[in-house]
Amino acid sequence: MDEKGLSREEVLRLLEEYRKQDMSYSSGRILGSMCTCSHPLAREVYCSFLESNLGDPGLFRGTRDLESRVIGMLGALMGNADARGHIVTGGTEANLMAMRAARNMSETKKPEIIVPRSAHFSFRKAADILRLELREAELDDNYRVDTSSVSDLISDDTVAVVGVAGTTELGMIDPIPELSEICLEEGIHLHVDAAFGGFIIPFLREAGYELPEFDFRLPGVSSITVDPHKMGLAPIPSGCILFRDESSLDAMSIDTPYLTEKQQSTIVGTRTGASAAATWAVMKHMGREGYRKLALKVMGVTFKLLEGLRGLGYIPVTEPELNIVAFNHPSIPPGELAGLLESRGWAVSVASCPPAIRVVLMPHIREEHIEIFLGDLEGLI
Ligand code: PLP
Repeated sequence: MDEKGLSREEVLRLLEEYRKQDMSYSSGRILGSMCTCSHPLAREVYCSFLESNLGDPGLFRGTRDLESRVIGMLGALMGNADARGHIVTGGTEANLMAMRAARNMSETKKPEIIVPRSAHFSFRKAADILRLELREAELDDNYRVDTSSVSDLISDDTVAVVGVAGTTELGMIDPIPELSEICLEEGIHLHVDAAFGGFIIPFLREAGYELPEFDFRLPGVSSITVDPHKMGLAPIPSGCILFRDESSLDAMSIDTPYLTEKQQSTIVGTRTGASAAATWAVMKHMGREGYRKLALKVMGVTFKLLEGLRGLGYIPVTEPELNIVAFNHPSIPPGELAGLLESRGWAVSVASCPPAIRVVLMPHIREEHIEIFLGDLEGLI
C-alpha cells in the first residue's frame, strides 16, 4: 500500500480503467452466463443495506425479519410456506449447506452422495470439503438423470440424492417425482438443485407450460437450492437454501457464545443482509405476474434462437425445457466455433455433455441481439 492516499477523483479514474476491461450484460454479448443485470430497485436497496450483518442478527432485527420473509415467500413458491433456510452467497454455498445437513443427520461413518452426471461442480467441492464419496448417476437420452442408475448406486451409506431442476449446461429438469418416490422409500435426503430453475419453472408452469413438479409438493423432497441472483434479478451474491423443516438447520447449528444469537447454522459468519433486503424488494416489486411475464419473454427469445439455428443448418442437441439452447455446427467442433464467435465479440460457453455451444437466454439478451448473433452464425455455415 502507498504511504499517501490518492484523491477520490484519481481512485475513481483508475477504477474506470479496470472496469473498461469488463464485459457488460447490457451489451447483449454475454451469452453463456446464468447471471444478468440486476433489477434497478434491487441494486438501490442493496446499497442501502450494505452495512447490515446477518451474522449478528440481534443487531439487525429488521434485516433478519426481511430474510425470514424471503424464506417464507420462496418456501411458499416451492410449495411449503413453513420451509426454513437462509439467504446465502449463491448456489454453491446452498448446495454445500444441503450436503452438510444431510451428512450430519446420518449415522454412517462413510457418507456417500449420488448426483447426476449433469450436476454442477459445486457438489464436487461439497464432497471434497465434507469428505463425502461422490457417486455419479448416468443420464438418459434426453440428458436427464436415469433413475434406475440412481437406484443402483444407493447403499447403506447414501446420505443424499441430488436431482437438478434446470441443469447448468442444458437447462434440463430431472425426473424429481420419481426421485422423490425412491428417496421416500429408502429414507434418504433428496436435495433439488433448482439454482437456475427455481425462479423460472414455477412461473412457466403457471403460464401453462407442461413441466414436471420439482419442489416440496413432492413428499420426498428435503431441501431446495434456488438462486435469486440468476433468474430472480437480485444482485450478486444472492442464493437461497430451503429445508423442509428446522431439523436440518439444527443438525448444523454451532454455538456462537459472544454474538446476539446463540447458535448459527450458516457456513459464513459475518454475512451481508443486503442480499436478503434486495431479494425481498425485487420479489415484492415484480410479484408473480412480473416473473411470469419475464419467464415468457425469455422463452420467446429462446425459441427465436432455436428456429433461427435450425433455419441456418445448425443442430440443436436437445429440445430446450428452459431458456438454454445448446447446438453444434455441422462440421466445426464446438471449441473451435466458440473461438470464432469470440473473435466476433460473443462470449459463449461450451457444454461438455454433450460437447456443444451453450447459450443461456438470460433477460439481458433481447431479440435484436439474437438477430445479430444469427447473422454472425450465418457467415460461418
Ligand atoms: N447449481 C446450478 C444448477 C448452477 O447452474 C450453478 C451455477 O451456475 C450453481 C449451482 C452454482 O451457483 P453459484 O455459481 O451461484 O455458486
